[in-house]
Amino acid sequence: MSDTCRWYPLCPMKRFFEEGRLDEKWIKEYCKGNYRECVRYRMEDEGKPHPDNMLPDGSIDKKNVLF
Ligand code: SF4
Repeated sequence: MSDTCRWYPLCPMKRFFEEGRLDEKWIKEYCKGNYRECVRYRMEDEGKPHPDNMLPDGSIDKKNVLF
């Protein structure tokens, strides 16, 4: 059964992955897996701002800068 995060279509992680800038492990582990553990997901739910290059575990991906 598909269990994809409801934010996936809009999430910058999807864009980074499709552009080849993000390892698929993040998508598998979080966006199409245990998304309830994603820090981005929780912050979206709480309406808290967070940078586009913050990874699902809450760390900052220095490769993907904001622009
Ligand atoms: S990074 Fe988090 S909020 Fe974004 S689609 Fe994946 S699980 Fe959802």
